[in-house]
Amino acid sequence: MKVLVIGSGAREHALVRCLLRDPEVSEVHAAPGNAGIAADVAVHSVVADQPEAVADLAARLGADLVVVGPEGPLVAGVTDAVKARGIACFGPSGRAAKLEGSKAFAKDVMAAAGVPTAMAVVCESRAQAEDALDRFGAPYVVKDDGLAAGKGVVVTDDRAAALAHAEACGRVVIEEYLDGPEVSLFCVTDGRVAVPLTPAQDFKRAYDGDEGPNTGGMGAYTPLPWAPAGLVDDVMARVVQPTIDEMLRRGIPFAGLLYAGLALTSRGVRVVEFNARFGDPETQAVLARLRSGLGGLLRAAATGTLAQHPEPVWQDGAAVTVVVAAHGYPASPRTGDPIGGLAEAAAVKGVEVLHAGTRLSPEGTVVSSGGRVLSVTAAGEDIDEARSRAYEAVGHITLDGSHYRTDIALQRR
Ligand code: AMP
Repeated sequence: MKVLVIGSGAREHALVRCLLRDPEVSEVHAAPGNAGIAADVAVHSVVADQPEAVADLAARLGADLVVVGPEGPLVAGVTDAVKARGIACFGPSGRAAKLEGSKAFAKDVMAAAGVPTAMAVVCESRAQAEDALDRFGAPYVVKDDGLAAGKGVVVTDDRAAALAHAEACGRVVIEEYLDGPEVSLFCVTDGRVAVPLTPAQDFKRAYDGDEGPNTGGMGAYTPLPWAPAGLVDDVMARVVQPTIDEMLRRGIPFAGLLYAGLALTSRGVRVVEFNARFGDPETQAVLARLRSGLGGLLRAAATGTLAQHPEPVWQDGAAVTVVVAAHGYPASPRTGDPIGGLAEAAAVKGVEVLHAGTRLSPEGTVVSSGGRVLSVTAAGEDIDEARSRAYEAVGHITLDGSHYRTDIALQRR
């Protein structure tokens, strides 16, 4: 099987590495990739959210399967364009990706499917927003209705700040605050059948102790030893299957990766959000523990044959990923800084150094090119071992002005 991975983050680097470990996969390509991906496989330049450009590339390469990493290309309809060429594509259609692309649409699907989520109101004016804020009370939760890479959400006790965010976005979803720990559950689905991957938890705030602004994610770990027994089965039965069934009923089957962002509240499990793709950075930790082949699993989902495919097999133990971010991330990341210590970091037992915002300079050195620069991922017999390996490796990395959280997977709940 020849596979083309679309995207350029550490999530895609993890997908590439995992596909390379799959004996069923003979060749992996990526587009546009980054410096780390380019060191592992052939990369091709493409504008990832131009569906016909991606489809052309897949056809030219003779790909058997295209795996789309980020949400932008999905919402733009890359899957539709690739499938139209007769090539299997893992990722929902543009219409189905609306489950992530529009929070209002997701709420509507959840309501119809009876899926537990925060009570919410769509607001398009200042007056509506004021009403909703007062109805739910503090802490206020205001979400941009469109795609915002996890950064369009404001959670605050400050009513004026909540209102300002609502006015800045235009159309927002204002909702009830959900207390309790968060869990990310990724499910591979062909539109009818869904298979859960190992649950993970990510760390969204920029600084230790969950301080600072929200980011795309600063680290993650899996599995979750504290999670209640039966959590995954419960979520499959009450959240994932009903959502997939409702999408099918509407004639917009959701095939690909359904990412359920969950809050385990004092009143039970609630969906915080759906995403239509693998989450970054949880994927880096989750795939580090996958022992069975990824290519066959994703192809089965892309071709509607998941019911006949064997269940994924997981390595015992745990995995932890720590994101190394550029100076100034998330507000104004600085790029172009040289990165050192990559080989030393990768030599630490159980560690993979996955690249996100990196590129090769004209001199052939690796330099930063984005906010999240590396995802240092370690497997171990338990979370403590994986964590200490990840931080030992991070200690070898040199990148001027960079920062990372020192408490990933330390607080576990
Ligand atoms: P989202 O883009 O919907 O995933 O939101 C980003 C982050 O904001 C979530 O992972 C939560 O940490 C937080 N968040 C979103 N909605 C709520 C809510 N209703 N109550 C509390 N926190 C929330």
